[in-house]
Amino acid sequence: MNLSSQLQRHFGFTEFRPGQKEACQAIVEGRDTVVLMPTGAGKSLCYQLTGVIRDGVTLVVSPLISLAKDQAEALREHNQPTVVLNSTRTAKQIEKARQRISAGGVKFVLTTPERLQKTDICELLCEVGVGLMVVDEAHCVSQWGHDFRPDYLCLPAVRQRLGNPPLVALTATASTRTLDEIRMSLRLSQPEVIRTGIDRPNLALEVRRCYSAEDKLAQLRQALEVEGVLERTEPAIVYCGTTKTVDQLSHALGGLRYHGRMRKAEREAAQEAFMDGPPAVMYATNAFGLGIDKCDIRQVIHVELPGSLEAYYQEIGRAGRDGKRSRCTLLYDPNDIDLRKMFAGGMVEASKIMTAHHTLVRGVEEFGEAETVALSKLTPISPLGRGALKSCFQLLSSRGIVAPAGRGRWR
Ligand code: ADP
Ligand code: MG
Repeated sequence: MNLSSQLQRHFGFTEFRPGQKEACQAIVEGRDTVVLMPTGAGKSLCYQLTGVIRDGVTLVVSPLISLAKDQAEALREHNQPTVVLNSTRTAKQIEKARQRISAGGVKFVLTTPERLQKTDICELLCEVGVGLMVVDEAHCVSQWGHDFRPDYLCLPAVRQRLGNPPLVALTATASTRTLDEIRMSLRLSQPEVIRTGIDRPNLALEVRRCYSAEDKLAQLRQALEVEGVLERTEPAIVYCGTTKTVDQLSHALGGLRYHGRMRKAEREAAQEAFMDGPPAVMYATNAFGLGIDKCDIRQVIHVELPGSLEAYYQEIGRAGRDGKRSRCTLLYDPNDIDLRKMFAGGMVEASKIMTAHHTLVRGVEEFGEAETVALSKLTPISPLGRGALKSCFQLLSSRGIVAPAGRGRWR
């Protein structure tokens, strides 16, 4: 089968992005496949194209309704009959969707694991025949990860009830441990693993050494200012280690805030304002994350060390999904390390590497004395980002935390 012409025909894209063709090949052949690609790389296409090609319905399980909605829109744009089943649907709407499914008029069904357990949708899907089961954001099966969703653990049982269709797991989290957990928890014995590089060349990574809390606030302000004013023309996220820091900074500098101690309605309003309102700064803990599918976030700033390098990668990954140049700044004060003693090891080394890159760029020989470098002086920016990210991941892969890029089966 000529996958490229199918790609053009159904989705209008002239070429595959890295990894997509290999993934599609494995999936059309009916093999279980794990797709590890960075955010924005085009993981969805791997199941969309193969779902169109394969017989039967493609069932897509997403952790969040908002993710499912976006994907459904994309599918409908390409004339693929798609149904989203979630708890916000009325009984009447559900009934209508069921009828469409049972009449064989639906190609993609998108839902959440919670919904799959609560309803008898499995029986219905079983009758019409599921050709492919997709688990999006598959790292949610990881009990040690930041986005654990207990309901994901029911998915192997669901798959069995559906007559064991081939399974595709998608995630941007590339650590060996997460991969192992995905393989174990989803019970994939010999999956094809498609892995592209973790590089995001349009992200410029930067570490600024801070010398005190006041200095950090000043540097944060400076990082957020555009020509001397805090007024926004572009969206930014400022990640904080604690809810207290979120409250303090949003109060001091003005902007939206989001953390787990806020009331649900308040949190949702903040998220909506960030997603759909005028460009704003969002001060948040890592509770603000999954499902932030906003393509034009130009800046992600960490004012405290993230929980792990993996979390850092996920969090900066929200910047620049549209492929345009974006800035990721870590405000690093060695005194912060007490905050996150448990995880600090990897992050500190990574930030040293990134700081060292700065030092290099500036031609300063002695590590440790790197000063803040105006971004405009870093030309070109992207090699710095690339180099820094690569070094981080080389460091991590040397420790067995992440595996090097490449395609291969599980050993
Ligand atoms: P993620 O890997 O984060 O899930 P998505 O699947 O949401 O990324 O894809 C990001 C964007 O890339 C989407 O807008 C999608 O239409 C686009 N895209 C995917 N594959 C291709 C391709 N082969 N050519 C052009 N655009 C593509
Ligand atoms: Mg995705």
